[in-house]
Amino acid sequence: MNKINLSILIIFLVTGFNTGVFAQQDDELVNPKDLIYDIVIDMRYSTPDHVFRNLPEGNISLPKFYTANECLLVYKLAKSLKTAQDSLRKIRVHDGNSYPQGIGIKIWDGYRPRAVQYLLFEIYPNPAYIADPNSGSKHNRGGAVDLTLIDLATGMELPMPTKFDDFSNKASHGYPNLPSNVIANRELLKNTMVNVAGLLLYGAEWWHYEVPGANTFPLLDFQMK
Ligand SMILES: [Zn+2]
Repeated sequence: MNKINLSILIIFLVTGFNTGVFAQQDDELVNPKDLIYDIVIDMRYSTPDHVFRNLPEGNISLPKFYTANECLLVYKLAKSLKTAQDSLRKIRVHDGNSYPQGIGIKIWDGYRPRAVQYLLFEIYPNPAYIADPNSGSKHNRGGAVDLTLIDLATGMELPMPTKFDDFSNKASHGYPNLPSNVIANRELLKNTMVNVAGLLLYGAEWWHYEVPGANTFPLLDFQMK
């Protein structure tokens, strides 16, 4: 590359960054790890360790629904989670427990291929917990995330009301008959996601949060690589 071409390229790049030519769009799928260096990704449907395997209708010939432990979220949601993690990481004491490196987020699910939505709904056709694939889930749009909190020093999950995908009343935000530390953890998650990150909660599942306007993002159907 000669000097003139190089100069033009540099001017283009500098101008591009300053004018936002390279800015990511809110509905663009991104890997949250690219924005949040210490977020933990544990995509449960990329392993056999998920509830659908244990349901009577579960198809054990298909133990893994995802081909890789890869999380994708729309950029707007990933940015919100960065705000949440930046706040959680600063916590040193919560509910009487010390967190020397702060608290962090572990993601259990994000973007979900629509073909998987059809499979899940076939196994468990209960629209309170599994969105009808004909209209699609916000997970199929990359606009929803399932997550919990961890101690960043140890990686241990904070005690929560239920495991992931517990389809019972115990998973709802209003469920009261729980130890006080469990309620404190559920409330910390909710307050951070809603009040700090600006996300919307889903009343029936303490682990599910979504970005406002998620239904405007396109329904997608490709597997993780
Ligand atoms: Zn969810």
